[in-house]
Amino acid sequence: MSLEQRDRDHIWHPLTQHQTAAPPLGIVKAEGVWLFDEAGNTYIDGISSWYTAVYGHCHPELVKAVQDQAARLDQVVFTGFTHEPAVQLAEKLIGILPSHQAKVFFNDNGSTAVEAAIKMALQYHDNKGQKRKKLLAFSKGFHGDTLAAMSASNLSVYNGPFEEHFMEVIRIDPPQVGVSAEYFEGVSEILDIGDIAAFIFEPLVQGAAGMKFHDAAGLSSLLQMCKKHDVLCIADEVMTGFGKTGKHFASQYLTETPDIICLSKALTAGVLPMGITSCTQQVFEAFLDNDITKGFFHAHTYSANPLACAVASRAIDLLQSEEIQKGIQRIQGGHEAFVKELESHSLVSNPRSLGVILAFELNVTMERYGNLRQRMYDFLMERGCYLRPLGNTLYLVPPYVISSEALEQLYEGLRQAIDRVAAENS
Ligand SMILES: *Cc1c(COP(=O)(O)O)cnc(C)c1O
Repeated sequence: MSLEQRDRDHIWHPLTQHQTAAPPLGIVKAEGVWLFDEAGNTYIDGISSWYTAVYGHCHPELVKAVQDQAARLDQVVFTGFTHEPAVQLAEKLIGILPSHQAKVFFNDNGSTAVEAAIKMALQYHDNKGQKRKKLLAFSKGFHGDTLAAMSASNLSVYNGPFEEHFMEVIRIDPPQVGVSAEYFEGVSEILDIGDIAAFIFEPLVQGAAGMKFHDAAGLSSLLQMCKKHDVLCIADEVMTGFGKTGKHFASQYLTETPDIICLSKALTAGVLPMGITSCTQQVFEAFLDNDITKGFFHAHTYSANPLACAVASRAIDLLQSEEIQKGIQRIQGGHEAFVKELESHSLVSNPRSLGVILAFELNVTMERYGNLRQRMYDFLMERGCYLRPLGNTLYLVPPYVISSEALEQLYEGLRQAIDRVAAENS
């Protein structure tokens, strides 16, 4: 029996309506940018497996890092113990994170990195004797699927049945270039009330919203305003981190630095699950007290798993290598040229790129998970391109090691997809 058939008996898939969904595709192998299915077909992983496998799948150095570490120390409790892979990773991360980040707290995925960040912010104020219970967040944000992270998110497809259980969140639109003075006045009024604990945002690119971009200068101004009100600024770099935007972190485009940063996805290069919540010394110190309960009593059993730390540490070496930095620049150049080409296409709106992220909208109505979207997905897969359209938004986040030929195959897949929609709409 195929994987596809055996899967049906016992597996409940994420983000899936099992009554109507097509059966999942059995994947048997991955190498570099390629995914291999059980029927022998190959696909280019045009989204780096949800923005994780940016150095390519099964990279020999990353595989070796896990193997070596697995033979030495597999797992140990991280409360009361420490180990080399965690210490080394923390040292390397602090070396490349935006300035003022001083401490790293280990979680096991992106949502729990955000969950810990929100709890840190709430307790930060509580420890100072202030009751601040609201969050400030962008409309159409996405921060994960655990309850507090979901509260901060604002995509109704995911949140519907849970909304009545959420934290209180004040929404603002992300600032676009040339945003009005009234926009900032509105934010100022919200902050003046003094009950906001933290401002959480995806810096520069809202991934799940459909790779929507906003303005670095406007976001910097928001951070500056928040800081005046002691509102902690939480940069959710789970998607943008580790080179996606062209810089190591999207926050490095800002003139203000975040107080807390959430990391996951490419942190461990698609090899093992892990998340990190980093913070400034100032945040950390708000938890120091002779009273034990002022400490941050939050843990995950697999916090700082040595295998995950070892692979993350090796991944940072790769990120800083000339080969990878050149790859990022080459993709960026390819994207810029493809955006220019798309600009003249009547069916395409708002083609854009930043670093290795490229996105555009098709001028047709497509539900996020509707039939037309599914046909687009199938059409691209038939051309060897694994991409996941978000409604009418098509986007690429290819691995940094993609060859120029494979990148061209992705562009060509998109060209044909646009032509196909054009033919259907004419
Ligand atoms: C994917 C994502 C998350 C959630 O991470 P998981 O590991 O899927 O829980 C949170 N924030 C952003 C910006 C993301 O892209």
